Amino acid sequence: MKRSELFIKTKKNAPSDEVAKNAQLLIRAGYVHKVMAGVYVYTPLGIRVVEKIKQIVREEMDRIGGQELIMTALQPKSVWEATGRWDDEVVDVWFKTKLKDETEIGLSWSHEEAIIDMMKQHISSYRDLPANVYQFQTKFRNELRSKSGIMRGREFVMKDMYSCSLDEQQHEAFYQSCIVAYNKIFERLGLGADTYVTFASGGAFTKFSHEFQTVCDAGEDNIYINKDKSIAVNEEVLTEENLKQLGINRDELTEVKTAEVGNIFNFGTQKSEEMDFSYTDSDGNKKYVHLGSYGIGITRVMGVIAEKFADDNGLVWSDNIAPYTIYLASIGDVSKEAQKLYEELSEQGIEVLFDDRDVRPGDKFADSDLMGIPYRLVISDRSLKEESVEVKHRKSGQAENIKINKIVSYLTDKIN
Ligand code: ATP
Ligand code: MG
Repeated sequence: MKRSELFIKTKKNAPSDEVAKNAQLLIRAGYVHKVMAGVYVYTPLGIRVVEKIKQIVREEMDRIGGQELIMTALQPKSVWEATGRWDDEVVDVWFKTKLKDETEIGLSWSHEEAIIDMMKQHISSYRDLPANVYQFQTKFRNELRSKSGIMRGREFVMKDMYSCSLDEQQHEAFYQSCIVAYNKIFERLGLGADTYVTFASGGAFTKFSHEFQTVCDAGEDNIYINKDKSIAVNEEVLTEENLKQLGINRDELTEVKTAEVGNIFNFGTQKSEEMDFSYTDSDGNKKYVHLGSYGIGITRVMGVIAEKFADDNGLVWSDNIAPYTIYLASIGDVSKEAQKLYEELSEQGIEVLFDDRDVRPGDKFADSDLMGIPYRLVISDRSLKEESVEVKHRKSGQAENIKINKIVSYLTDKIN
């Protein structure tokens, strides 16, 4: 992609009403555009990051047997009435609207009931189970406050997976495999060391659910951790009785501020009973399907990464989620050589943002830093005299000169 063809302009300042660091940076660097509180556009730069995060999640969901689908954002009232969750007193984040004929519908704040309603029509026998489905979908939530930038959207992208199992045992095996998959995802996203599998309130069927909480100053949660025992407890379940059950003392725990990047629930058969989602077992008896639900906040994860790794000069993406790996800046009268290098790198499958604009070198460097592109390549009259380009690593700030005929192998070596 050539900078001269990209419509995005970076900004010196974020809008004055934007208080979250992640959104301030993402807006200034041109990844998102703010429409109103909690509502953001993802630009061509932003969408590339979203898609890369999704792809990592997709690979790990597929690996444990997930089948991808996509549900609808428009939800019929009847489906949610079955569980009592159409009621605004029960679910306080609904956006609701009406069809022309006055039929009430809701915008998906979750897809739990919707998925069950669909799966019911496909699953009838023990032979049909297990079935595990997932999607990346937009959720709409009329959140009371939305001051955390893209970490708390009123419209945001979630990965939600639902497991349909024969029984508790089959459910538990999948639930555990999902914990492993989630750990791997957060590892790949560079959040592994700071993400804790956290005991949280469980709901109707189990005492605890598990949240994936990432240490982050801008997070809205407080959890209590013990690094050595690698145990973490959400403050909502921090009682004497619970700690005793988990075998820890209050004074072994330290409080940290975190953002919930994912969570997983065991629903048991409660929802299947409410919605009559059943199957016939091998003896011909009617059984209720055992359900689980597994979320990851895709756009929140992007916000957490933006927030955590940024430095004074702007965003810092890791190689595997950066929108482009290389920011190629041409300086002076070197357009022919720069174009050639751009083409060569692109042919090798390296993702390059080529700043071919006629602007001051300092502006190119500032944009490269602000956008957080992992490697900056500078090609200039001076570098060409030595038949080389300057490569600067965004994260470490280290720079070196590399011979042009070695640059492809140098970069393919570096990029993970
Ligand atoms: P929270 O406690 O932060 O309100 P939640 O418990 O309501 O989240 P779920 O409904 O289980 O969250 O959603 C699954 C995941 O979606 C969460 O773990 C979080 O990462 C993400 N998420 C939830 N609400 C938002 C939001 N308003 N904006 C962005 N991501 C969100
Ligand atoms: Mg929560």
